[in-house]
Formats: sequence, structure tokens, C-alpha cells
Amino acid sequence: MGRKKQARVRMRCERCRRPAPVDLRSKAAEGWNGKWEAGSLAFVLCPVCQTSAESAEAEINAAALTVGTEDGGKFMADPVLCLTGTLAEPGTVLYGHDHLQRIAQTGQAVELTLIEQMPPATRCVPMAGGVMVYPPRPPS
Ligand SMILES: [Zn+2]
Repeated sequence: MGRKKQARVRMRCERCRRPAPVDLRSKAAEGWNGKWEAGSLAFVLCPVCQTSAESAEAEINAAALTVGTEDGGKFMADPVLCLTGTLAEPGTVLYGHDHLQRIAQTGQAVELTLIEQMPPATRCVPMAGGVMVYPPRPPS
């Protein structure tokens, strides 16, 4: 019935195969934990199947998100590419190098969010589902 425009594969809990919420950043996905490996979401775990260590990690991620926001950091959901230059005149890739590699290997362009001309001192901290971007602090 519904339009099947989204070809996105729905992820399932690695252990019990329970289908994960399609939007892993939605309210429904609260408590789910994602393992982020080499720039892609390797697997997800439902709240029931997480060991205490893993749910602690999820809480740390959530904490990082909150702290980041208070810190002036900004969460960018993957796939995202952070550059100091531009695509025409590339500078340093601050984040998303593996996305580029994957595109080079498969020849398939993904819907990459491109952030160009970031100040070189920008800090990009990878985390589950994307990256926290911290602009350089103004000299005080
Ligand atoms: Zn599960």
C-alpha cells in the first residue's frame, strides 16, 4: 500500500533480530545502541539484548551528545564529510575519509552531507550515527 520509496535496509537487533526503528535517531530508538566501526554502522542492539557495559556506552554516547551541544559542538548525522577546503580544492579531510573510500571503491555516490571550508582547528569526534563537530574556540 504505502510508497516504497525508501530502499533503506531496516536494521535488526544483532542478537534477537528484533527490527530496529527505521530512524535510529527518533524517539522510538531510544535505548537502542549502535556499534560504529570504520565509518559504518556495524550492528545495532535492542535495549533488552545490551549487556550492561553496552548500555553504559549508549549512555556515554547520549551524554557526549548533551555535553557536545552545551560545548558548542554540533551533531552531524552520517554520512557526512568534513573538509577544510572544498571538493574542488580539497584541504584536509577532518571526518568521513572512509565514506570517500567507499565511494571510490563502489563508484556509488551516497547522499553525503558536505561541510566545506571548516577552520583547520575544527575538532571532529566520531560517534555512533555520525560525528560531533566542535568549532575552534575563539581566542580569549
Ligand atoms: Zn535484541
